[in-house]
Amino acid sequence: MIVRGIAASPGIAIGRVWRMESEAEAANAPANIEPSAVESETARLMQAIAESASEVAALRDQLIAKGQAHEAEIFDGHLMLLEDEELLDRARNAINDELMAAEAAIAAARDEIAAMLESLDDEYLRERAADIRDIGGRIIARLTGRSDMPPAGGGDPVIIVAPDLTPSHTAQLDPSAVAGFVTLQGGRTSHSAIIARANGIPAIVGMGDALADLRAGEVVILDGESGELHIAPSEIVIAEFAARREAERAKREGLQSLMGLDSVSLDGVRVELVANIGSPADAVSAKERGAEGVGLYRTEFLYMGRDTLPSEDEQYDAYVSVARTFGPDAPIVIRTMDIGGDKELPLLELPKEDNPFLGYRAIRISLDRPELFKTQLRAILRASAHGNLKIMFPMIATLAEWRAAKALVDACKEELHGEGAAFNEAIECGIMIEIPAAALLADRFAKEVDFFSIGTNDLTQYTCAADRMNQKLAALNDPLQPAVLHLIERVIRAARAEGKWAGMCGEMAGQPHAVPILLGLGLHEFSMSANAVLPARGLIRGIDQASMAALAAEALELETPDAIRALVEARVPAIRQAY
Ligand code: PEP
Ligand code: MG
Repeated sequence: MIVRGIAASPGIAIGRVWRMESEAEAANAPANIEPSAVESETARLMQAIAESASEVAALRDQLIAKGQAHEAEIFDGHLMLLEDEELLDRARNAINDELMAAEAAIAAARDEIAAMLESLDDEYLRERAADIRDIGGRIIARLTGRSDMPPAGGGDPVIIVAPDLTPSHTAQLDPSAVAGFVTLQGGRTSHSAIIARANGIPAIVGMGDALADLRAGEVVILDGESGELHIAPSEIVIAEFAARREAERAKREGLQSLMGLDSVSLDGVRVELVANIGSPADAVSAKERGAEGVGLYRTEFLYMGRDTLPSEDEQYDAYVSVARTFGPDAPIVIRTMDIGGDKELPLLELPKEDNPFLGYRAIRISLDRPELFKTQLRAILRASAHGNLKIMFPMIATLAEWRAAKALVDACKEELHGEGAAFNEAIECGIMIEIPAAALLADRFAKEVDFFSIGTNDLTQYTCAADRMNQKLAALNDPLQPAVLHLIERVIRAARAEGKWAGMCGEMAGQPHAVPILLGLGLHEFSMSANAVLPARGLIRGIDQASMAALAAEALELETPDAIRALVEARVPAIRQAY
């Protein structure tokens, strides 16, 4: 059987299903057993504990290998708890004396011990309650084949099936443990999809209810290019997809010949092909995949999934690390924190909103909380002494916002002067154009900013009034919608008229049908998932800018995204080979 969703990250994955769901959703196991089953139930529990221990050990080893020895200690603690007699005895007794099923027995034992720890005065012991809950959840996941945690490796890579994945969960996925993922919700530009593309993990999102009956452990084939999931495929189909996966790998290897070459068109127009990253580690892999720098560092990931805000020094270290990865001249665009929308930050205790994508987010929070914002600006400025850093503000709608943000940069510069700190006095400051209000006034912004970077993910959702997370609206959420294309043309023209550069960091910048049009419109910087850099370079080196300008003019006259795609395919057949 084949079910379809939204193709979110290309590539083929073949593997067993790993259902990632909350424990409550997974709690459909029977609670009691027959007396005759006590022995086998106890054995099942012991087996799950042993498997959990190897999973935790694998996690610990991965962290050590990444140089995160401190974090690895947490899992050493978990391993000790897994051997703890108290937890084991309570669970075994519950099976033996109360005829509880293994899941129910370990859940009861865990809850009793955690409650006892939580009632103690000693802060250290109280905090261990969270570890006991974590471990209990892991054992239950092993027993039910369902988990609210991503798998940690140690076996064949699996295909995660989840209602949705948070961006931080996705960022933690280990490609050696996860062959791909499928979510029931989400759109192509949800942040989970973006991170999957950056990490080369095939994914389909927005599957809807079609997967309710899919069982953990079942073999499936995920085709991230077509958005199709093959359930219970035959041996022949598996062999066919395995061959395609191999061919794709060979193609990727072929692209290596483009490493280090200029991104220049046949008629000599040079552009920058840079990467979107979410961490210093992404910068390393982006460089390895041919990126010439960074066009978008989503710094909000520095703030997420932790208990305290990152200090100025911690941020400084992260920004310097990215600059060092690429060297002193490579452009590194640091976008200030863009919390909100699908990127939550519980730490800020923001009230729940009905329309988070239209809400209190990004620059709106930064301007409202100058102390938070200035910590980040100071960190970026100080780091600018070590590389070609640029500051970019997200979600700018008005000139007043831009000016207020710029004034805070100037205030931070003054402070740093006073402290004798080194920084690049001439650091470029620019804005994202991702709100139609800013696109419409691009000519006025262009007089004041150093650059634009067009955020087509948001620009499309706001122009077409179509939530980027809603799978039913995928056709509207297409940056090749003519209305969006006209705004893009306007923004690039406005920048060029003032001698400023225009880039794009929305997902469109790396899409095969869009690259020729954007080159034709005069885009200077293309920032994309690292995986798309070499294919885009191959494509640009095979076309000329002047012909693409004519193509773009024709595209602007068309009425639908499909018509525009057909035009590009007819004029630039190379897009099929390049990607
Ligand atoms: C965009 O909106 O296009 C963009 C690049 O920002 P984000 O995807 O992080 O909202
Ligand atoms: Mg955005």
